[in-house]
Amino acid sequence: MSEEPQLDCPSAPFDHPEAKLLGVVLEEDGEAQVAYTHKGAELPDDFDADELGIDPGHALRFSAPCANSGCGQWRDGGCGLGKAILEQLQPVVDVAPACTLRATCRWFAENGTQSCLRCPQVTTKAPSSASVRVAPRTPIGPQRPSLIPSPTQRPGSGATVHA
Ligand code: SF4
Repeated sequence: MSEEPQLDCPSAPFDHPEAKLLGVVLEEDGEAQVAYTHKGAELPDDFDADELGIDPGHALRFSAPCANSGCGQWRDGGCGLGKAILEQLQPVVDVAPACTLRATCRWFAENGTQSCLRCPQVTTKAPSSASVRVAPRTPIGPQRPSLIPSPTQRPGSGATVHA
């Protein structure tokens, strides 16, 4: 029996030791819209998160190897965040965006293109005024936050997604 391939989390904390830049969060008409980066895109070596003036989780999207059942978002044999996004968010694009992660994306592997149609509105973190979050507090961990990932259409007043 073959082993399951290593999949990647598409909304990983920026400080995950294996985080790779996946996208830049733009804001159009008050709504978050992720622009997916090209393959191999990296932050500059001298990138200083403190100088950004905002938590990188608000402004950037990162991928990192999925921790599977070692992640606090794991539910019923799969990614609880991916399921919540599918159940609680509406599509924001008509066609799946050009995204270099697709071959190994956990959300796509479990839920297909319907994840991609919702993915561009997802920010990994939202301002503290909005209780939304789309990633575990740590890259790997058993903790289970009561509020899950939370894609936000408007970072200042994003919706909350419950697992
Ligand atoms: S859900 Fe789709 S668009 Fe989003 S990171 Fe995964 S493959 Fe890319």
